[in-house]
Amino acid sequence: MSATTAITPKFSMMTTPCRICFKAAKWLPVLFIVTVVVWSYYAYVIQLNLFTIASIIEKCFYLIVYHVLLGLFLWAYWQTIFTDIGTVPKQFRLPPTELDRYESAETDEVRRDVLERFIQKHSLPVYNRTMTGDIRYCDKCVQVKPDRCHHCSVCGVCVLKLDHHCPWVNNCVAFTNYKFFILFLGYALLYCLFIGATTLQYFIKFWKKLMSTAIDAYSRISLMLMESFTYCSSSSFPLCSPSVWYLCLGTMFS
Ligand SMILES: [Zn+2]
Ligand SMILES: [Zn+2]
Repeated sequence: MSATTAITPKFSMMTTPCRICFKAAKWLPVLFIVTVVVWSYYAYVIQLNLFTIASIIEKCFYLIVYHVLLGLFLWAYWQTIFTDIGTVPKQFRLPPTELDRYESAETDEVRRDVLERFIQKHSLPVYNRTMTGDIRYCDKCVQVKPDRCHHCSVCGVCVLKLDHHCPWVNNCVAFTNYKFFILFLGYALLYCLFIGATTLQYFIKFWKKLMSTAIDAYSRISLMLMESFTYCSSSSFPLCSPSVWYLCLGTMFS
């Protein structure tokens, strides 16, 4: 079943303008991350390396390592966002006759029997059961759920080995892109740490110079705030903290 046909009833009831707005809003977190990366590029490459650092060797070393990390980070991010999520193969979907019998069944026992016969007839490899011992079945996608498959309410489809739906990549993190997601977190962490470490000495120098400069308190606070904002955004701290958290979780539970 494709992502376009299996839409949730709530989503399908929306009018077309609402649906477009909903789809556009889902890209806002991705836009935020792209904006942070673009700003960090400007602050690190243009402001720091081209205008501030005097040593050619230091400049070249920083720029080469930075661009390698940036390339790896963007590649992993792209793959995480645009890799197709693994949807359930067609043979797990109930054919019309079995669907009729399932939906017209009056008791849970009859429904259970329909599903048991269905998976035996097609030799489907389904071993997980619900808490009540039933075969896992999705009413929205009208299909049997393979093991470790879950329905994503944002994408509106059942997804193989679904971990979670991540708003920062506007995609499910699941069977097909889990590796890219872990790589994206790892490269994001390295990218943040590298920028944070290489800009720290210039950040401290700026503060020391500012403290010894005879300017009024208002201008000093404004400059401090501006420089702090530049340092935090260029070293991508908003990316760094969730990356550490997700990376730890991914390593522990993968
Ligand atoms: Zn489903
Ligand atoms: Zn999803």
